[in-house]
Amino acid sequence: MTMAHEETEVVVVGAGPVGLMLAGELRLGGAQVTVLERLAEPMRESRASQLNARTMEIFDQRGLLDRLGTVRAEPSGHFGGIPLPVIDIGSAYAGYWKVPQPRTEAMLGAWAAELGADIQWDRELRGLTQTSEHVEAEVTGPRGSTRLRARYLVGCDGEGSLVRRLAGIEFTGHDARRELIRADVTGIDIQPRRFQRFPRGLAIAGRSGADVTRVMLHEFGSRAVERTAPPTYAEVVRSWARVTGEDIIGGTPIWIDVFGDVNRQAVQYRSDRVLLAGDAAHAQLPASGQALNLGVQDAANLGWKLAAQVRGWAAPGLLDSYHAERHPIGAEVLTTVAAQADLLLGNSDSAAVRSVFADLIRLDGTRRYLAETLGGLNVRYDVGPGDHPLLGARLPHGDVLTGGNRTTTGELLRPARGVLLDLAKDADGHDRIRATAQSWRHRVDTVPVKVDGSAALSGLTAALIRPDGHVAWLDPSPEELEPALRRWFGTPTTEAAAR
Ligand SMILES: Cc1cc2nc3c(=O)[nH]c(=O)nc-3n(C[C@H](O)[C@H](O)[C@H](O)COP(=O)(O)OP(=O)(O)OC[C@H]3O[C@@H](n4cnc5c(N)ncnc54)[C@H](O)[C@@H]3O)c2cc1C
Repeated sequence: MTMAHEETEVVVVGAGPVGLMLAGELRLGGAQVTVLERLAEPMRESRASQLNARTMEIFDQRGLLDRLGTVRAEPSGHFGGIPLPVIDIGSAYAGYWKVPQPRTEAMLGAWAAELGADIQWDRELRGLTQTSEHVEAEVTGPRGSTRLRARYLVGCDGEGSLVRRLAGIEFTGHDARRELIRADVTGIDIQPRRFQRFPRGLAIAGRSGADVTRVMLHEFGSRAVERTAPPTYAEVVRSWARVTGEDIIGGTPIWIDVFGDVNRQAVQYRSDRVLLAGDAAHAQLPASGQALNLGVQDAANLGWKLAAQVRGWAAPGLLDSYHAERHPIGAEVLTTVAAQADLLLGNSDSAAVRSVFADLIRLDGTRRYLAETLGGLNVRYDVGPGDHPLLGARLPHGDVLTGGNRTTTGELLRPARGVLLDLAKDADGHDRIRATAQSWRHRVDTVPVKVDGSAALSGLTAALIRPDGHVAWLDPSPEELEPALRRWFGTPTTEAAAR
């Protein structure tokens, strides 16, 4: 039997939040994209429910917040169970935003599909082969098996990633050593508790719907066990009683699962024509919602670069900068999450560390450091020479005036193109910036702006912003503008046309 053949430019495996975000970004960059998802319909489990400041900013810079509807802000966050208040960290979205994962996925899926991504449900990747020219995916579905050929394939297929295994990419670190049991239960009436420590364990309880209570618990010193099925409700009842002394035997479980302090990272985010993003690239305890946010931010970094590669204008090294930029960020988050796991799941042996940490968290500097870290705002890529604090950092969203109209820096990034902010005060300055940027006008919008409330930009005459919102170049090094445009936006269009 011969297999049907299909073609596209990029295959994304997995229609989770990361695959869908990436699909939208690829479409904005002009790449043809097919998303393969083995589920027959969207996932409905609550899973991750917290968006951080940087994810909110990324959604804002693509105009996605209105689509998300009303988002509830948590009054405070935590680091390893120690309360962390919401403080001003220079973002309109400082804090912790509650959105159930299915809602985030539905919003991203509708957006990506409207932009022209071909999202195929009930289609499972089973194998892949790479050549120097393309990658070929072996796909099964209700209509049989097909081969899908593409220029690149991205594994957004979650922690157990088949793409990662087929590409032979090592996933170093450790499996879960400690586990938490979690259950949604009806018919019980217990007091809400955020992170209550008892001598024998940690207990969390809260209403997650009318008559539905979510309970979560860990028994100190217990080891994660290999399981082929979730624990029974009887096991949950016994464990809850051992930790809290309360009896929840009269309840009815809706679902039960376990998760643990797994800590693993792919050693390479790219193997030739295969790339990884999201949980496929890093697996960790879901503490403070770090995993989903880290993955969405991977997608925002990769999308425009891969689209540029496929469209043929990426400078050498642009696609590899995805691994170079995002792998260290992933490693940093894994370390932070491991620290949280120790604070959260450590028994009385770690009481002294917890006590010192609780004191440190009262200091403004510590609060700021942790809030920026959990908010994903501490990311600074190595984009080239210069030591201005904004270089490589994300452009803080703020109000600007352009042509007499008020807008925000976030809105300027909506089309996912480069933006050269022309902040010059005189005609000579404007002319100089425009003359240099003229040859990149098909990829970079030069926007004359007056700063109005964005303190970060005051005193500058120009700033080059990448499509993912990170600052690639700033004056006062005007001689570096052209190399920066070449590095991030490829060969000028006039030269490309002449070839
Ligand atoms: C059971 C569970 C509970 C969780 N709970 C929390 C929580 O409470 N808090 C929190 O912050 N985070 C939680 N997480 C983590 C959070 O959901 C993830 O970090 C987030 O979903 C990562 O997104 P992703 O797109 O990288 O991967 P995923 O959301 O895992 O998406 C991967 C997608 O790929 C598809 N897929 C896999 N293999 C193939 C294949 N061969 N072919 C086609 N499709 C394939 C899968 O069906 C899936 O839809 C939980 C995760 C799980 C699995």
